[in-house]
Amino acid sequence: MDPIQVMGVKGLPLIHAGDDIAGMICERHPLEEGDILCIASTIYSKAHGYTKKLSAITPSERAVRLGRLNGEDPRFVQAVLDASADIIMEHPFILSEMSFGHIGVRAGVDQSNIEDGMVIFLPPDPMQAASKLQAEIKKIAGKNVGVIITDTCGRSFRRGQTGNAIGWSGFTAIRDFRGDTDLFGHVLKITEEAVVDEIAGFANFVMGESNNGVPAVIFRNCPSWTGHDNLYFRSDEDITKRVLKKEGSQPL
Ligand code: GDP
Ligand code: MN
Ligand code: MN
Repeated sequence: MDPIQVMGVKGLPLIHAGDDIAGMICERHPLEEGDILCIASTIYSKAHGYTKKLSAITPSERAVRLGRLNGEDPRFVQAVLDASADIIMEHPFILSEMSFGHIGVRAGVDQSNIEDGMVIFLPPDPMQAASKLQAEIKKIAGKNVGVIITDTCGRSFRRGQTGNAIGWSGFTAIRDFRGDTDLFGHVLKITEEAVVDEIAGFANFVMGESNNGVPAVIFRNCPSWTGHDNLYFRSDEDITKRVLKKEGSQPL
């Protein structure tokens, strides 16, 4: 097997609404059949105008209350509430579920890598975003490329943020090992590997968080896998969410 190659796409400018990011990436880095292209959600959202001026946001009573509680600008809190389908925790930060199933701190709303006084939302339908980008690349470069939209996320139990996949196209999210046997012939009963998150994690490492200016990363020669797309727990399976919601419903 050829070694896996991981390449940051250099030379992309600051992205603005209306920019053709698939075209801009293909112009700067040749893609090959079977490549996996990871794109920071930030640039997808900027290109598609999923941004807002804080000055255009009127905070609700709840946003004012939570802003005071968490020491945040109530207009920013309102942006987070608007991006959330379900609030799981209000304090010490808002943790919420988005309509596409992802659970994240402050609904993934960012104030970094954009002009002062602006917020960036996650794409409202990142699965569709990934499949649109995949089709655009096929049209421009004539190659079948898998796409992952990434975001940097905090996690439970461990310090430090890592890249997560919030949208993907061209493969399944999970590589399913259930029913496979290990080196000793034991049948694996529970092993489902979240491959899209593993790749997103390494892409995030190459992107960096601050002023690298590398919002796209290409993986070449990755082995293929099979599995399924049920990356998010169903509500009745999600023990952490259940406990947090119970805790969050107690008076502070
Ligand atoms: P997020 O993880 O999707 O929230 O995105 P980040 O803000 O962490 O940015 C990821 C990478 O993309 C970093 O290397 C940023 O410097 C870079 N980046 C963000 N916005 C732009 C942009 O408009 N143009 C370029 N060239 N790079 C950007
Ligand atoms: Mn982000
Ligand atoms: Mn990031």
